[in-house]
Amino acid sequence: MPNRTIPDPGGPFRRVSPAAVVIAFALVMTACILGVVVWKALEAKTQTLDRGQTDIQNLAHSLADHASHTIQSADIAMAGMVDLLKYRSPLAERFNQYLADTVSSLPQIREIGVLDADGKWLYSSLPQTPTHSNSDRNYFIHHRDTPGSGLRINEPLQSRLTGRSTIILSKRIDGLDGSFAGVLTAAIDSDYFNRFYRTFQLGPDGGITLIRNDGIVLIRWPMSDKYMDFSRTDLFTRYLSLSSLGYYKIVSPFDGIAKYFGYEETPHYPALVTVSMTEDWLLANWWRALRTDAVVAGVLLCMILLLAALLLFQFRFRLKTELALREREAHYRLLANNIADIIILIDARGRIRYVSQSVESVTGLMPKDLMGKSCFDMMHRDDRAGVQAATARLVGGDAVSTVAFRTSRADGTLAWVESKFKQASVTDDPARTEFLCVIRDVTERKRMEDELTQLNRRLTQLAATDGLTGLTNRRTFDSFLRREYEAHGQISVLLFDIDNFKGYNDTYGHQAGDRCLQAVAKVIGDATSDTPGLSARYGGEEFAVVLPNVSEDGALKAAEAIRLTVRALGIPNTAASRGYITISAGVASRSRSTLNEAALVGESDAALYEAKRLGRNRSVVYSSGDLQYVETGSIQHDGELAPGEKAR
Ligand code: GH3
Ligand code: MG
Ligand code: MG
Repeated sequence: MPNRTIPDPGGPFRRVSPAAVVIAFALVMTACILGVVVWKALEAKTQTLDRGQTDIQNLAHSLADHASHTIQSADIAMAGMVDLLKYRSPLAERFNQYLADTVSSLPQIREIGVLDADGKWLYSSLPQTPTHSNSDRNYFIHHRDTPGSGLRINEPLQSRLTGRSTIILSKRIDGLDGSFAGVLTAAIDSDYFNRFYRTFQLGPDGGITLIRNDGIVLIRWPMSDKYMDFSRTDLFTRYLSLSSLGYYKIVSPFDGIAKYFGYEETPHYPALVTVSMTEDWLLANWWRALRTDAVVAGVLLCMILLLAALLLFQFRFRLKTELALREREAHYRLLANNIADIIILIDARGRIRYVSQSVESVTGLMPKDLMGKSCFDMMHRDDRAGVQAATARLVGGDAVSTVAFRTSRADGTLAWVESKFKQASVTDDPARTEFLCVIRDVTERKRMEDELTQLNRRLTQLAATDGLTGLTNRRTFDSFLRREYEAHGQISVLLFDIDNFKGYNDTYGHQAGDRCLQAVAKVIGDATSDTPGLSARYGGEEFAVVLPNVSEDGALKAAEAIRLTVRALGIPNTAASRGYITISAGVASRSRSTLNEAALVGESDAALYEAKRLGRNRSVVYSSGDLQYVETGSIQHDGELAPGEKAR
């Protein structure tokens, strides 16, 4: 059956919930954005660390060079002095000046001193040559006990002259016989290196270390005067054996801070420089960029999630609305298809846009047979104008026009329907106005109405008619007379009474009496048929006739004609002296003295009474004015009164 199920407007794609699509979209977008951010961050981190490595190694290289040059320039100067002192014992004044000049040309050197074989000062670049002995110093002991012309770099010590941390560069002075003759020292303030190292931005926990190649720390920046030995660290046990320069990462076992180390040995001298920076410092800019990216990504994600939420809300709302609409439509269809009334939607040109299933039960036609056709095609030709007029009367959305028309059924028969027309949509454009038409089959009602009308008519007729004779009854006669009396100045009333009828009944029986009554009534009725007059059964075997616009003469003639015709029927009546059924008539016409219609009937009755009194089978006129009765005639062969004969 068509229209029984709710159609699924979305087809197979409708099964994928929009919410799922939106959630999937949001997840994919989130994954994409996070993926891009993470990928970019990892890439940038690698690049940043690579750049950090390069920077650290470049710095280590530069600082190694710097340390080497610092030492080398002192070394060169010291080499000449050692040679000189080997062969000569210069004058203190002059040599001290020479030493002072050398110190002033080498900014890294604080002072130069010459110790004799006992550790006492022989010469110095200082204005006042100290007098104390340095024989207890490591460098002194080393040179005293170790022949060789090499430069020794001493571990930092606290200067006895300045109290500052000092690195002593020293060389052995040999006598001509190769014996130990003293030590040449050049003191470098640790601050010299610290001041230089301070200029580099290494971040918190970053540092630079100048280390002697036996692991003894010469300079550690940021400053630390502590004696330190790095010989057991990874640098010495592992990396230096692999390469004279390198880069590695360590995680501090104390604070858990990850650091990157770059190192490089100084050319020519047994020392190396390490540069360290924490991973956090190296990645500081990267972290900043990452935070910015994260904020941008976060904002983007929030917007996407917001958009998704909005979309979800919208979809849910639409879905709900659609569902409600579909349910409502289904309900309407159910109603439209299951109520007996036909529901039709027609456009402004009268074409059918929708017709409910119920049209089939009323007309036998299928909805598809009617779709697109003119609604006037459904109507009987004679009823179309009425429908057009009814729809033309529709003004405003609330107006309803009801009209009945006939429609053809599929089997060719006609059905009566009653239709209520209403505007389905109110628009300013009449060409777009649609009409709703609710049609009800009223064939049966119409038939019953017709039957009822006929029945009523019959009832009215019965109420106005005497059952036995078929003539108008007394009540109708009275109202007819009243009406006609009012309407006409000239009017006559005739009253008839069957003579000796009691005896007839007694002789022939009541049923024969009835038949006799019917025969007489027919004569009296025929007398007024096709005239404005009226014949009635006045009661029992009495009859009355009203003749509007008929004069006394005319009325008398009519009475006589009736009387003679009844006689001519020749109905035997042995109870009557004449042997046949006869009637007597009383005639009265309206005169100036007649008070009203009742008085007119009274006059007629008086005339009838007179006719009876005079011997029956005659007509008597109640002559107005002198109250005389005029008996106008009798049947000649009865030998009674001749026509024109007067009765008193
Ligand atoms: P008169 O000539 O003086 O009129 O004599 P009458 O015998 O006709 O007297 P009356 O008018 O008094 O009698 C009327 C009778 O008519 C009495 C009644 O039995 C009879 N009659 C009245 N109505 C009917 C009826 O419907 N059917 C039959 N069969 N007889 C009726
Ligand atoms: Mg009577
Ligand atoms: Mg009678």
